[in-house]
Amino acid sequence: MDFDPPASVRPLLDRIEKFVAEHVMPAEREVLETGFNASAKLLADLRARCKAEGMWGPNLPKDLGGLGLTLVEHGLVSERLGRSPIGHYVFGCQAPDAGNAEILHKYGSAEQKQQWLEPLARGDIRSCFSMTEPENPGSNPTLLSCTARREGEHYVIDGHKWFTSSADGAAFAIVMAVTNPDASPHARASMIIVPTDAPGFERVRNIKIMGDAGEGWASHAEIWYRNVRVPVANRLGPEGAGFLIAQERLGPGRIHHCMRWIGICERVFDTMCTHITRRKIDDDKTLASRQIAQAYVAEARAEIEASRLMVLHAAWTIEHKGFSAARDQVSLIKFYVADVMLRLVDRAIQLHGALGITSDTVLAHYYVHERGARIYDGPDEVHKMVVAKRILKRYEP
Ligand SMILES: Cc1cc2nc3c(=O)[nH]c(=O)nc-3n(C[C@H](O)[C@H](O)[C@H](O)COP(=O)(O)OP(=O)(O)OC[C@H]3O[C@@H](n4cnc5c(N)ncnc54)[C@H](O)[C@@H]3O)c2cc1C
Repeated sequence: MDFDPPASVRPLLDRIEKFVAEHVMPAEREVLETGFNASAKLLADLRARCKAEGMWGPNLPKDLGGLGLTLVEHGLVSERLGRSPIGHYVFGCQAPDAGNAEILHKYGSAEQKQQWLEPLARGDIRSCFSMTEPENPGSNPTLLSCTARREGEHYVIDGHKWFTSSADGAAFAIVMAVTNPDASPHARASMIIVPTDAPGFERVRNIKIMGDAGEGWASHAEIWYRNVRVPVANRLGPEGAGFLIAQERLGPGRIHHCMRWIGICERVFDTMCTHITRRKIDDDKTLASRQIAQAYVAEARAEIEASRLMVLHAAWTIEHKGFSAARDQVSLIKFYVADVMLRLVDRAIQLHGALGITSDTVLAHYYVHERGARIYDGPDEVHKMVVAKRILKRYEP
């Protein structure tokens, strides 16, 4: 058992770490303060530099101009990029585009690849994924109301969606809609590509997340699809295969998120340790001298190390034994790592005192914008229930 990163990616990981520290982290404050749109040029310049240095698209296959990394290798990259809120965006592997690119690559027709995947992979356009509906529980996505009815060689889509991340400024949405209402629950829906300039596509608003509506890539939209007419050729994969494809999208997606969260943990851990070793709470004593702060540091360190091993092992299992062999592991990391990250962010804020809730450090940004980690891609409770049921089944008499 070798716990070192694979030799094949070690030089790349060093280069990425350096690039993130020297170019990405110094730029993030401007992006977070002025917003995604006002920082368009800064972000484009960073992306161009990342491409020029041969580090673009770590998750993308080589035939699409990416690095073609394996899941474990990309996990290690994702951890390094997670140290900045704009890391994944600068390297062209940000959600939801990364997941959309993966399913377009696997299920897209030649025309779909040419029209949507190629410009997406180059970073010329952005995309979004539109499944969750305000009226229905996202945790049970078989209960979708959005329909796509067939009229000759077209689908006509009607539905109400929300939390369509990054829809603002996206060129297309991949919409999950019911095409086969009489089929079994998991065979009712299909994924359909909808250009965002199609008549009837209405982005109602960017939803405020704890007071911040965000913009562009950094936003979550409410959308109405009203009689949106698209060719049948816009369907991704076979009719009724929406859930199958969604599962494929979520498996690696959860690994990517978890490794990104570990990157966030490392950033927050650094921020916390730096602060408490400097903040005087007495004439000659810093906060770091207090046992309660030391306990936070030690607990966080143990939890980060445990998280990394769990996630890399899950990625390794998917790679070597297939997704179904890793099902339990993926559920475990999804709720465990999200919880580790959010508890650490909260403790780091606590040890920063009032400074912790200002925007003078990156902590408040994470507190607001990463809280969703325990909800999206399966809420904690659902993952716990699913994994516990499977475990308990093995104990049944
Ligand atoms: C930041 C963020 C980004 C997102 N991006 C996207 C996106 O790009 N595209 C998209 O389509 N969707 C997106 N979503 C939506 C996300 O997929 C849903 O929020 C998620 O599936 C949960 O669905 P819900 O919000 O409807 O909660 P519900 O299904 O109503 O569940 C509410 C709560 O009930 C509890 N619960 C649910 N089911 C059970 C159960 N079986 N047993 C016990 N407790 C249960 C859980 O605590 C859960 O949090 C995003 C969400 C967030 C927060």
